[in-house]
Parts: sequence; C-alpha cells; structure tokens
Amino acid sequence: MLIVQKYGGTSVGNPERIKNVANRVCRTKEAGHDVVVVVSAMSGETDKLINLAAQVNDNPDPREMDMLVSTGERVTIALLAMAIQALGHQAQSFTGRQAGIISDCVHTKARIEKITGERVREAIKEGKIAVVAGFQGINEKSDVTTLGRGGSDLTAVAIAAALKADYCDIYTDVDGVYTTDPNIVPQARKLDKISYDEMLEMASLGAKVLQTRSVEFAKKYNVPVRVLSSFNDNPGTLVTKEDADMEKVVVSGVAYDKNQVKVTVTGVPDKPGVAAKIFNTISGANVIVDMIIQNIGEGGLTDMSFTVPRTDSKKIMEVMKKVVAEIGAKGVNLKEDIAKVSIIGVGMRSHSGVAARMFSALAKEGINIMMISTSEIKISCVIDAKYTELAVRVLHETFEMDKAA
Ligand code: ASP
Ligand code: MG
Repeated sequence: MLIVQKYGGTSVGNPERIKNVANRVCRTKEAGHDVVVVVSAMSGETDKLINLAAQVNDNPDPREMDMLVSTGERVTIALLAMAIQALGHQAQSFTGRQAGIISDCVHTKARIEKITGERVREAIKEGKIAVVAGFQGINEKSDVTTLGRGGSDLTAVAIAAALKADYCDIYTDVDGVYTTDPNIVPQARKLDKISYDEMLEMASLGAKVLQTRSVEFAKKYNVPVRVLSSFNDNPGTLVTKEDADMEKVVVSGVAYDKNQVKVTVTGVPDKPGVAAKIFNTISGANVIVDMIIQNIGEGGLTDMSFTVPRTDSKKIMEVMKKVVAEIGAKGVNLKEDIAKVSIIGVGMRSHSGVAARMFSALAKEGINIMMISTSEIKISCVIDAKYTELAVRVLHETFEMDKAA
C-alpha cells in the first residue's frame, strides 16, 4: 500500500517526539508499505513567527509573511529526514516547491491548483521515504505561498489524492473523532467512522480535528482519511463516503461554538430591499454572517437578528451603526454571551421528529432557544452561553450517543 502520514505540530514538538515519529514511519515502511510523510512546524512555531512579523510591521506584506511562516515546516522536514536516516532508512525532505505543490496567488490562504509530485514519486520508486513540508506551495511566479492555518492537513490530503494513496493518515494528539468534547461529556464515544459531510459540519463548528478545507478536498477526491493518535496505537476514526450503516444512526455528534456573537437591529422598516441593503453592506466589510432571523413585522417595522464571528464584533457594530442611520431603523445591539449548539447526523435525512426531540430536551432543562437553523444533516440552536455544557450533555444523553449503533 501507499500511505500518506501527516504529523501535526504537537507530534513533532521536540527532538524526542520527532524521533518517535521517525520510529512510527519506519515501522510502516518495514511492514512493506510505501510512505510519504507530511509534517507541520513544531507546535507554537508558526505563532512565534507571526508574532515576530508584528514586531517589525503592523501590517506585514502577505508575500513576505508567507516567506517567513513557511520556514517552520522547513525545519521539521529536515529534522525528521535526519531522524529517519538515523534509524537506517533512506529519507529525503521536500519543500512545497520541490514536491510540485502549485497554488494560486492568494498569499496566506492560497488554494492548491495541482500537485505534480515528480520528485516525491521518484523518491518512492527508489525506496526512499519522502518527507514533505505541509502548509506551503508555490504560485506561478514561484513565490512561496501558504495554505491557511492548519493547512498541513490539506497538503496531506492533496498529496494522497495526487498519488492515489490507499490512506491518508492524520496523526494528532487525540485518537479520533468523538461524539462530542470528552472534556464536557466523559461518556463521549470515539466514532469508528464518519462521513465527509458530517466531518465538515463538525469541523466548521469548532471540533478542531481536521482543517475544514482538507475535508472538502478529501470529499471531492474521495480520499479515505484516518484520524489517529501519534502517542498510542489505538484504532482511530475513518472519514469516508456515506454508507447505509451511517444512515441508521440518527445523530452522530453534538458540537458547540462559543465564537459567535448576536447582532439585533430593531425597528427595521419592513419593506423590500432593506435586508439586501443590510447584508450587502456587511459582506462588503468582509464579515461572514452565519444565522439570520427576521421577526414578524408589526406596524411596518420588524426586528432582525444575525450572528457573526466574535473577532468581528467591533467592526460589525461600526458598520451597523451607519446602516441603521441609512435605512432609518431604531437601533442596533450586540449580545456577546451566546453559544451555538448543534446536533449532526446523516441519519436525520431518514428519521423524523429529530428537531422536536432536540427542542424538548433543551426545554426540559429550562434552556431558552434564541435562534434556530437547520440543514439536511444538522440542527443548530443559539442559546445563552452559560448553558452550553448543560445543553451538550443533555443532547448527548437524549440521542444516546454513548451507545454504538
Ligand atoms: N504550521 C501551520 C499552522 O500552525 C500549518 C499546520 O500546522 O497545519 O497553522
Ligand atoms: Mg492541525
């Protein structure tokens, strides 16, 4: 088999750990497989570099930023190749450029356009272990680009797709994908497998095991991804295409997100074009809106609420104050102590009454629901942040997520 293994920052956080990774890589090779390894920078290293940049320029040039932050992975590929060689195996490290990872020109969040991978293929053919720098590529001008935070996951999945690897194994500091955060619910259960779509919902809701874009890529090219721990040999979680078994489970996981705030515009004139005006202005300010509700109008006026990322709180209030004046609304206010709690499962497509069970479970605990949104495989409720843990626990119990299907 051809296996792509990816090790995150914690797994290569110091020389001892790098030697551990080298051991694991060599064991896989000795089992008769071809191995390509993708690594992140040592934990904390990328943040350190970003911080350095901030000390010399308030608004660093994105091209120079990429030149800087791509160095973190350059350190770990070389160290890992040396550690593998010390164990008597042949290894060769490759930067994004050497691996032929071609991206677009959007510095600091570039998209991979294609992977030529000639030198990686050559190395494999010569019996070597190829060690590839995560997170980086080059654009058509051969400037270094990076793929956004957590981008090494994407590098691994994209290389697995390009080389048609049998598996893309993502080694991290947790040993799989759980039904929910085990810190909140000790009974949280590790899932044997999860569909790409469920994983996307979990990832975008802050269950930070895999970078969202890497899951989108895996889905598009049908790459089987396994999430595993680099600290033990436990079986992990397979992220794969949906199958009949998955449909039987009503809810696979419950996720929460405390990183949003709620904005309410009051006394909005209830006439065509007003919502368009509000949300066009917001999108013009590059703020991403998640949930939106509009109340029933009364006397030609209505209230409208929506959520945005917490990091945009200040910006959104500045923008909204102007919009409120322009459209002649009454006012705008911000509620910061909210949380979004969501249940996720492909089984929702074929089971009815799921929303009712969710709302009843929350009601029984006296938890008020401020906003609701649904998709085919997800129901989200915005609640008061102080009830987050309680809500997660109650939903985990209600849908019996501690029990295997
Ligand atoms: N080193 C980069 C980061 O910290 C990429 C990665 O670790 O996946 O975001
Ligand atoms: Mg990561």
